[in-house]
Amino acid sequence: MLKGKTAIITGSNSGIGLGVAEELARAGASVVLNSFTDRAEDHQLAADLGARHGVAARYIAADMSKGAECRDLIAKAGACDILVNNAGIQFVAPIDAFPVEKWDMILAINLSSAFHTTAVALPLMRAKGWGRIVNIASAHGLTASPYKSAYIAAKHGVVGLSKTTALETAGQGITCNAICPGYVLTPLVEAQIPDQMKVHGMDRETVIREVMLLRQPSRQFATVEQIGGTTVYLCSPAADQVTGTTISVDGGWTAL
Ligand code: NAD
Repeated sequence: MLKGKTAIITGSNSGIGLGVAEELARAGASVVLNSFTDRAEDHQLAADLGARHGVAARYIAADMSKGAECRDLIAKAGACDILVNNAGIQFVAPIDAFPVEKWDMILAINLSSAFHTTAVALPLMRAKGWGRIVNIASAHGLTASPYKSAYIAAKHGVVGLSKTTALETAGQGITCNAICPGYVLTPLVEAQIPDQMKVHGMDRETVIREVMLLRQPSRQFATVEQIGGTTVYLCSPAADQVTGTTISVDGGWTAL
C-alpha cells in the first residue's frame, strides 16, 4: 500500500518509533530511522528492518533537541512523504522544583522538533500533492497528571500544532493528525516492572493492573504494533479526509 513512499520517523531506534517504522515498512514504505546516537548498531537496526520487509531503510543521526539538526534530518533524507514526529523524553518534578534545563529540553524534543521537521517537510509534500504527518502525542496531550508539567505542556502543544498544520494543508492531499497513546509496553516501561514489583511487594500481573495501569480502564497496555497500525491507517486512503484530529489508543483513559 505504501510502496514508493518514504517515511521518516524521529526517535525510532527503540520503543514506539521503532514499532511504527516496522509497520510502515511492512506496508511497503521506505523508512528512515533516527536518534541522536550514531553507533554501528543504529545503522544495523535499519539494515535488518529493511531486509525483513524488502524495503530501503536507513538510519540518520540527528539530535531532535536542536532545531538545525531537525531540519537537516529531512533535508538529508531527500524525500519525505510520511513524517512521524515521535522523539520524546520525560521528567517528573513539581513545578516549583522543575529544573529549567529539563523544561527547555522537553519542550525542544517533544514539541519544537515537530515544528522544525514539519516546516521542512511541507514543501516536499506539497510538490508531490501528497503527504501524511503523524504526531505521536499522548493521553497527556488531552489530560493532565501532577508533576509532569513540561511533558503535558509539550504534548498539548503537539495536539495544537497538529490542528494548525491540518488547517494550513487542507485540500492539498496532505493530512496531519496526532495519535494519543495511553501506557504502551515499550522496553522503557518493561524495565520499570521489576522495580515496581519490589516497591509494592506485588507480582507482575498485580503491579501492572493495580499500579501502572490504574488510569487505563482496560488495565491492558497498548502495544507498539497497535500504534504502528494506527499510523498505517492514517496513511491509507480510508483516512484521506481524517485530518486535524486526535486518535486515542489508551484503553479508555480519556473516556473517564
Ligand atoms: P523510548 O525512550 O523507547 O523512545 C524515545 C525515542 O526518542 C528513542 O528512540 C530515543 O533514542 C529518541 N530520542 C530521545 N531523545 C532524542 C533526541 N534528542 N534526538 C533524537 N531522538 C531522541 O520511549 P517511547 O515510549 O517509545 O516513546 C516514544 C514517544 O511516544 C514519545 O514521544 C513519548 O512521549 C510517546 N508516548 C509514549 C508512551 C508510553 O507509554 N511508552 C505513552 C504515550 C506517549
